[in-house]
Amino acid sequence: MLGIDEIVTGGLCIGCGLCKSVAGAECIRMVTTPGGRERPVAVRPIPDEALATINAVCPGTQIEGARPETLPDDVETDPIWGPAVPSTLAIAHASDPVVRHRGAAGGVLTALGQYLLRSGEVELVLHVKASPDAPLRSLATVSETPEAVLEAAASRYGPAAVLEDLGGVLARGRRLAVIAKPCDIGAVRRLAEVDDRANELVRHCLTLACGGASDLGKSLDVLDRLGVREKDLRLFRYRGHGNPGPTRVETKDGRRFDLTYQEMWGDEAGWRVQSRCKICPDAIGEAADLVSADCWPGGAPEGEDEGFNAVLSRTRAGVRLFERAVADGALTVVRAIGFRDMDLFQPHQVRKKRAVWARLEGMRAAGMAVPKVQRLRIAELAAGNDEGVNEEEMLGAQQRASAGRLGEPPAGKGQVREERPEEKSAKS
Ligand SMILES: Cc1cc2nc3c(=O)[nH]c(=O)nc-3n(C[C@H](O)[C@H](O)[C@H](O)COP(=O)(O)OP(=O)(O)OC[C@H]3O[C@@H](n4cnc5c(N)ncnc54)[C@H](O)[C@@H]3O)c2cc1C
Ligand code: SF4
Ligand code: SF4
Repeated sequence: MLGIDEIVTGGLCIGCGLCKSVAGAECIRMVTTPGGRERPVAVRPIPDEALATINAVCPGTQIEGARPETLPDDVETDPIWGPAVPSTLAIAHASDPVVRHRGAAGGVLTALGQYLLRSGEVELVLHVKASPDAPLRSLATVSETPEAVLEAAASRYGPAAVLEDLGGVLARGRRLAVIAKPCDIGAVRRLAEVDDRANELVRHCLTLACGGASDLGKSLDVLDRLGVREKDLRLFRYRGHGNPGPTRVETKDGRRFDLTYQEMWGDEAGWRVQSRCKICPDAIGEAADLVSADCWPGGAPEGEDEGFNAVLSRTRAGVRLFERAVADGALTVVRAIGFRDMDLFQPHQVRKKRAVWARLEGMRAAGMAVPKVQRLRIAELAAGNDEGVNEEEMLGAQQRASAGRLGEPPAGKGQVREERPEEKSAKS
């Protein structure tokens, strides 16, 4: 069993906040580290039972694919992309032009969140939005209306502890959908195995394909480049309002800056992606009911378009939702696709899925703890790699781990969450 500090220093924490929800705010606080990561800190000893539950549900310790009993009869499991029903693989977008425009890509996740509320299937949608007071930061939010779901549309690439009050949300006793990153969704699924409320109330888990969550430092660097202080921000939108839409920065005194997707993300070395993301065995949401992804051939946009998503429906609940949303006009299907189209849209996911087993072996060889991975086919995929690939990945991970580059410093009690804007203003 790993302690919270060991999960963090071992580079396994992604900052979802579920451990805080499990142990309670009196035991665990989430802080923003100086490197710009959301991390848990134990402020008093965590009872053994709570720590055991955390180890069973934390996405740093356990990572699992879909539960077979949730999958429909006509599901096909692709070695890379996992389970999905081939007849529902599609390029699609929100039918509402406003949702399509404001969504990260085609607005599919927003349209589905709205559809679930309108149809009464769920009463709440748990997801993420920009903090109203500090728009560089991202907060968990519970939407009860389609308008509120739209308010939280589009991607938040920085840290977002979406599950830190999941217990509080479940205590409301209302049916809900969760829209979040694949690692967050995996954590919700495992919680449902040990918490009857989660099993009963979480009716849909929707996710995105995920290239990794950046440190907040990535976004602070952008502000520094533009000469903007965080406390002066009125808006920080990573994308959306187009596909991909500009990264838009607006200040309270009326200055406005737009960065293209290429300006923001063109240099992969500058993404400042968290350690857990580099060894992520499931960045494509195999535990979710449905996945909405970008669908640019080659993996990057060549310009702006009207907004499209590649959609994979995995479970019975996901297939039913997708088909009903299309039939009722919430989603528009443009064309059918196959798994090999997904390879073309997401070449980075294909590379990572094939490399992860060897990276984990490299960490293990360096004496680091690794998550328990189940039903994600990573060993089988590695076995099919060209000669030398696994050795190279393993050695690289072992060397990075031995040099301390896959771990991170412990988060400290003295670290804070929302005070960074004042820190920045004091500096400048
Ligand atoms: C960290 C990150 C990395 C990504 N990497 C890839 C990638 O490699 N390939 C790819 O195809 N797509 C990636 N995306 C997703 C992509 O940006 C689109 O969000 C996705 O295609 C869904 O588009 P949409 O129009 O359906 O989403 P929308 O309709 O705009 O809905 C997005 C939903 O996601 C929620 N959300 C946004 N950010 C977060 C977050 N950080 N944590 C939890 N929930 C959040 C919002 O609250 C909203 O409900 C990434 C997104 C994030 C946040
Ligand atoms: S990944 Fe989530 S549950 Fe695990 S230690 Fe980090 S914040 Fe806690
Ligand atoms: S790459 Fe994996 S661990 Fe990182 S944010 Fe995405 S789903 Fe989570």
